[in-house]
Amino acid sequence: MKDKLARYARLFGKLRTDASRSRWSPLTRNRAPHKPLLLLSVLDLFEQDSTRLNLLELTPDIGELFTRYWTRVMSPDRRGNMALPFFHLRSDGFWHLLPKPGKENVVTSAAQMRSLFRLRDTVTGARLDDELYEILHAPEARATLRGVLTEAYFAPELRPVLVEQSATNHEAFRYSEELLQRDYGKVAETLTEQETYRPAARNQGFRRAVTTAYAHRCALCGIRVLTLDGHTAVEASHIIPWSLSQDDRPANGMALCRLCHWAFDEGLLKVSTNYGIVTSSQLTATDNLPGYLTNLKGRGIVGPAETAFWPDPESLRWHHNNVFRPW
Ligand SMILES: [Zn+2]
Repeated sequence: MKDKLARYARLFGKLRTDASRSRWSPLTRNRAPHKPLLLLSVLDLFEQDSTRLNLLELTPDIGELFTRYWTRVMSPDRRGNMALPFFHLRSDGFWHLLPKPGKENVVTSAAQMRSLFRLRDTVTGARLDDELYEILHAPEARATLRGVLTEAYFAPELRPVLVEQSATNHEAFRYSEELLQRDYGKVAETLTEQETYRPAARNQGFRRAVTTAYAHRCALCGIRVLTLDGHTAVEASHIIPWSLSQDDRPANGMALCRLCHWAFDEGLLKVSTNYGIVTSSQLTATDNLPGYLTNLKGRGIVGPAETAFWPDPESLRWHHNNVFRPW
């Protein structure tokens, strides 16, 4: 195991990346950070489930992890494209693309692939070397490889940032699973474990739990847009704000698109205890009719598949009494 780990530590430390002083800052050691960031995301997936299959697919989950790392190390105006490392890691000796039937030639002949859409059309995913896959089951090995990636490709000041993001990703995942697995049918209690979660992990975990419960669909207008790299049109809203309730149960939340979120928090929309949408007269009081929102009047919400996660009537009553503007 030690020899094998040493071998992969060497390979992880010698990734073929684009090196250019004009394109990449000293923070990423003048090299493109795509591959190390994607591998950190892969390590996170094994952290979440070490019994996972040896198949890395292009799912929103991996896309979200990649984006979280990317935004911690790159400036906001620079968008990370996960298709690039997912395709080009094939030249680093341990990452094997699995072509879809009939697409074998495309995978071998394409010099590059910049589009996630095209990549997903071409490959089922990627498989790791069997030996590497075995190694990744061990937490110590994952820690070693994580250390190699952060030290080889990032400046000292960025390393703690990446370590912190890894910890947050792991904690948020655990918290969201806890929120989604609790038997809410029996007890409508607030979580006692939440004290042990850091705010960043709690926010990220609540967001994951609620967007998962609603399958990324806005509870009010029904819009659902989820990009291949895991960007979603919905946000996770608290019905009774966290600051007042410390209640992260999915039943105290709804997945809402930005406009619906704003209108709900402004009290221009509410949800009745039998889950109908009610609009404030203020929405129709101006000449500039926001048709998109007024059309929601009288419709039912688009709730989660799991009945236990539908909004808690107590929370909806609180919103009605404290936030909603009837006129
Ligand atoms: Zn909406």
